[in-house]
Amino acid sequence: MNSQTANTEVRVRFAPSPTGKLHVGGARTAIYNWAFARAHKGTFILRIDDTDPTRSTEENTQIILRAMRWLGLDWDEGPDVGGAFGPYKQTERLDMYRQAAQKLVEEGKAYYCFCSQETLDAARKTAQEQHARFQGYNRACRGISLDVAKERIAHGEPYTIRVKVPLNRGDVVVHDLIHGDVTFNARELDDFIIFRSDGTPTYNFATVCDDAAMKITHIIRGDDHLSNTPRQVIVYEALGAQVPVFAHLSMILGVDGKKLSKRHGATSVEEYRDSGYDSEAFVNYLALLGWALDGETTIVPKDVLMQKFSLEHISKNPATFDPKKLDWINAQYIQRLSDNDFAHHVLIPELIKAGLEMPKATNACTDSGTGDVAEGAGEAMDIHESDVSACFDKRPSWYLLLASILKPRTTLAHDVVEKARFLYQGKNLCIDEPSLTKNIYNNESAGASLKAAYAALEEVNDWTSENIDAAMAELPEKLGATKRKFFAAIRVAECGNQVSPPLGESMELLGRELALFRLKNALELLEAHKS
Ligand code: GLU
Repeated sequence: MNSQTANTEVRVRFAPSPTGKLHVGGARTAIYNWAFARAHKGTFILRIDDTDPTRSTEENTQIILRAMRWLGLDWDEGPDVGGAFGPYKQTERLDMYRQAAQKLVEEGKAYYCFCSQETLDAARKTAQEQHARFQGYNRACRGISLDVAKERIAHGEPYTIRVKVPLNRGDVVVHDLIHGDVTFNARELDDFIIFRSDGTPTYNFATVCDDAAMKITHIIRGDDHLSNTPRQVIVYEALGAQVPVFAHLSMILGVDGKKLSKRHGATSVEEYRDSGYDSEAFVNYLALLGWALDGETTIVPKDVLMQKFSLEHISKNPATFDPKKLDWINAQYIQRLSDNDFAHHVLIPELIKAGLEMPKATNACTDSGTGDVAEGAGEAMDIHESDVSACFDKRPSWYLLLASILKPRTTLAHDVVEKARFLYQGKNLCIDEPSLTKNIYNNESAGASLKAAYAALEEVNDWTSENIDAAMAELPEKLGATKRKFFAAIRVAECGNQVSPPLGESMELLGRELALFRLKNALELLEAHKS
């Protein structure tokens, strides 16, 4: 089946319930809706389904909006931006649902039901005991005339509103772009409640009222909603609205084949954001959970996704969320950055967040109205572009050199912090104990190596990595030491561990004075250790 109705503008929506944070599964649904709208030059709508008052919170709504912004999924209609079909929060649309339900009652397509919970429970129990084929609501109130019902309501009797499922309706066939035609036995559909006795609409009613009113053409959502769909089709038919095209997405499983949950690690978008993932890499990875560009391409940037995404290429098999693959994709995105972008968008913001670089004295909290927040900045601390630039401008070539050596060693943004920390410890370098013992205390060439390096480097005035490397290149041979032992001693003296970035560049970044100080300091530690 073609996913696009000829000559109809595509209108899709992502409709999260703010009962929690935005999770990986919801984010993938949002990405597919967004990409589908963009690929078809359609409209992407964000609607907040907050009709469950006990579980929906404004705080969760804000968390979801923030996550959507971080993912870069801009919406054309919805909270904050408005639109011709608003409001876009269900709690602000209650009157519309009420009017729609009343209209259905007046038209004889829905009816007032006065059955109490006890009555309903008792009827269900009897049906179960009798192994009745139909165990749903027994339609006891379907025959009550509207006048009588209105009188009972006027006398204060509590009521719900139920839709009248046409008795001769036949099976409901949901045409699903991913699952094909899914047939539901109409006899198993009872006259379900569309309005509760507390005056709130049920999900199946509110969602259809909105999807119809907002002229949604395609419903792309998780397949946990597939079982709701026949009821929603009944509501569309009662409202006289066109049934949209459905695409129910398969579940996302963890690597152990079980439904993705907390047990598998982070599940909310904000956890990934705070862990230092690049939002575009994250979107790329989630997009591939069930969709493929061509079966082999793994790097699908957003501009490609928004041109090429199509519902025809979605698998109906469950997708597996593999954190290792996500990390790999993230590293690919980092490697694609220029050193300058890496410095501005990854390195310096992370160093500021870690407190290694200080933002300008006064503006950390005060210019928050400017909106100039650096990309990728976390919620815990908004990093302003002006702070990043101020930092960079103090020593641009220093940052570019640091970026060039750290970028190839970075998978997640905050990896840079530990790798760069030794540059910020001045004369109080924190030396890793096992490295000190192995490479300096128990290294018979350490003393001679440190002394020789000091003497050679003292002669270097133009302090560049090339000159530093050149000054040390011949020393191991001269000392009769192995290169490995020689450089291990110098590396630990300068960087505090054995896994630092390349030595020459690291020492250039430290600067001549500090690099020489650290050699001497290591020598003193060694002598103190010996005595
Ligand atoms: N509000 C529903 C949810 O968060 C989505 C409903 C729908 O997409 O129809 O699960």
